[in-house]
Amino acid sequence: MVATGKPSPEPGMICPLMKQDISECCSKCMFWGSIKANIVDGKTTRTVDHWDCSINMIAFISGDIVREINGLQSKQAEFNDKAYGESQQTLESVIELAKGFEKKVFPALEKMGRETIKQIEGN
Ligand code: SF4
Repeated sequence: MVATGKPSPEPGMICPLMKQDISECCSKCMFWGSIKANIVDGKTTRTVDHWDCSINMIAFISGDIVREINGLQSKQAEFNDKAYGESQQTLESVIELAKGFEKKVFPALEKMGRETIKQIEGN
């Protein structure tokens, strides 16, 4: 076996591409690689440092990508609900403010206007 610096897998399985025992061919193959990542699984995070055939790892990684996308979609929906709720509250506050403005400020302005007209007419 040629030394490549890559670890070899345990013998016992045959690579369908190379038609050899994996302990003989994987460490020399471009598909043999390591994955080092923090995997979030629910509330726990585990560190993965694993050598495997990249073709094998596709299914493993795809599952994590799907879980990640589902988590992001769920957070996006949560954010949208919260943003909508907060914008509704803000809108209601503005409406209440406008009602108060209409009840208090408009009559006061009207009164000031009438008094100003009286003063002008009185002169
Ligand atoms: S890494 Fe995958 S494709 Fe390459 S020899 Fe090993 S099993 Fe075969």
